[in-house]
Amino acid sequence: MSETLANLLHEERRFPPPAALAAAANVDASAYAEASADGPAFWERQARRLHWHRPWTQALDWSRPPFARWFVGGQLNVAYNCLDRHVEAGHGDRVAIHWEGEPGDTRTLTYADLHRAVCRAANALTDLGVAAGDRVAIYLPMIPEAAVAMLACARIGATHSVVFGGFSAESLRGRIDDAGASVVITADGGYRRGKPSGLKAIVDEALAGCASVRHTLVVRRTGQRVDWVDGRDLWWHDTVETASDSHRAAAFDAEHPLFILYTSGTTAKPKGILHTTGGYLTQAAYTHHAVFDLKPDTDVYWCTADIGWVTGHSYIVYGPLANGATQLMYEGTPDTPHRGRFWELVEKYRVTLLYTAPTAIRTFAKWGDDVPAQFDLTSLRLLGSVGEPINPEAWMWYREHIGGNRAPVVDTWWQTETGAMMISPLPGVTAAKPGSAMRPLPGIGADIVDDTGASVPAGGGGFLVLREPWPSMLRTIWGDDQRFLDTYWSRFGAGAGSGGDWVYFAGDGAKRDDDGDLWLLGRVDDVMLVSGHNISTTEVESALVAHPAVAEAAVVGATDPVTGQGIVAFAIPRGGVDGGPELLAQLREHVARTLGPIARPRQIMLVQELPKTRSGKIMRRLLRDVAERRSLGDVTTLQDSTVMDLIAAGMSAPA
Ligand code: ATP
Ligand code: MG
Repeated sequence: MSETLANLLHEERRFPPPAALAAAANVDASAYAEASADGPAFWERQARRLHWHRPWTQALDWSRPPFARWFVGGQLNVAYNCLDRHVEAGHGDRVAIHWEGEPGDTRTLTYADLHRAVCRAANALTDLGVAAGDRVAIYLPMIPEAAVAMLACARIGATHSVVFGGFSAESLRGRIDDAGASVVITADGGYRRGKPSGLKAIVDEALAGCASVRHTLVVRRTGQRVDWVDGRDLWWHDTVETASDSHRAAAFDAEHPLFILYTSGTTAKPKGILHTTGGYLTQAAYTHHAVFDLKPDTDVYWCTADIGWVTGHSYIVYGPLANGATQLMYEGTPDTPHRGRFWELVEKYRVTLLYTAPTAIRTFAKWGDDVPAQFDLTSLRLLGSVGEPINPEAWMWYREHIGGNRAPVVDTWWQTETGAMMISPLPGVTAAKPGSAMRPLPGIGADIVDDTGASVPAGGGGFLVLREPWPSMLRTIWGDDQRFLDTYWSRFGAGAGSGGDWVYFAGDGAKRDDDGDLWLLGRVDDVMLVSGHNISTTEVESALVAHPAVAEAAVVGATDPVTGQGIVAFAIPRGGVDGGPELLAQLREHVARTLGPIARPRQIMLVQELPKTRSGKIMRRLLRDVAERRSLGDVTTLQDSTVMDLIAAGMSAPA
């Protein structure tokens, strides 16, 4: 971005919290003032929600920026905090996980059950020679053993690296090698879209020629036939389920490495993000308490993310369990066996708090309002969104058709790197605007800056940065401090010896509206430069999605001889829409009317699907390749590579 980002979209709608929710909310408006007055002392208070085996002596050591140390000298055990202390407090009978398999089989694990399962797995891993600091790769479907495996690693101080079960052997091998894992925990397979998919076979392929892995632990989920390497491969039911369920949790340093997690790879080669123990758990637990307003005795919480993404780490495993939540965990896809599966589950388990992604919300909207309308969703009292900017019309659809115009929507901005939520409404405080993540959470110093690093005024747009260290911040990129410095801290960060402040560059564009509220505008790499104006792809997409004929849209800037870049849009029509040339002309006009003539797309193409990463994010760089008629870049993190073939074929056909 050479100048600031144009601010094209105006939003007047406001949705204040329901009075009852506000009156009983876990966190009220005083938290903002308290946090800004207290600095790191605010986070010390939040850290006291956890059990510390030994208290810290210093809240934050920032003497060697950007390498932070939080809660210096403190010691704790993450699994003890997520399990033992709840059992010891008399909550052993509370359900921790209501699990539902895709085929409809179910399991219920109380906190006492989960505690025993984690103790057994911790003993089994120790027997396999896994010690504190060793790395364990986890490649599992969405079954309770995924949470058990993560917590067992945390319990013994082993660093886990969870790899999403949809990744190929090659991606898995890359991640196992990079982390130097000695054990891989996997399953024979899992259920996706109505049929068993194989996981063990992919692990076998990934491990060919891999030196670091001594053992695999294999959960039997589908019962499919698997190959077996004697001496290396062990069944979970022979090894873990026969181990003792008594295990004493040792305390680890607050900065002990908890996990490595590779980013989803939307923009570049995935980075092995390293998170540590005390600060991470503090912020995961606090944000889950504050933003979801969790009442552990009465709420039923459901985060639909996969455990292979950071959302699954912080908001299925660590945050909710540290807070003693009762949650739903679902193995499969939202359209198996029918398109109402999610809503059937909300009705069945009386889910009160739901956390999902814009990609899912837009898909549900495309499938039609009549699907959720068939189910009783009145239990829902709060809705969350994460993963991409949420288009205002998708936000409105979510609020109306899922939240019954009653439940507040919280749009939560954060990244694998931030470890926990950073910008979000507080459900009992904020009068939310559809499409805006609103304000930095208490204790978080987010800002928007121009090219030179100066804050932009209200009404301006630019780069999202974080000005203050935060407890759950990444500590480095695993094995690559230099890439850590280059990627996040060199754009605006004070260079060595300059004496300035260290500023974290998030890689996202954002704007500040006239009220000072923040709007995320997509990746900096995705911002378009049209006739000298920086225009956000997100705003043009939101304008398209606001047209009744469009379900979902992706926009890119393609090189243009006249304007520098021209706006090229790919739009998925809603079911039943006739996509003739008239509609295309109408859509171009609609965007120009909504955002101004500068944003009128040069070209719009109707498509049936968009290229997405395996975590469901639109991959604009591939669409840019197509729009500029180049061969495609790296497609390994693409969910379905045939999508791109179809789009490329359509693009080269005469318009
Ligand atoms: P890579 O860094 O490898 O390209 P990635 O950025 O997709 O992968 P994640 O850490 O899973 O990997 O995603 C974080 C990004 O997702 C954010 O930087 C932002 O672009 C986007 N994002 C997440 N939540 C929101 C939100 N509420 N609003 C807008 N964007 C969001
Ligand atoms: Mg990223």
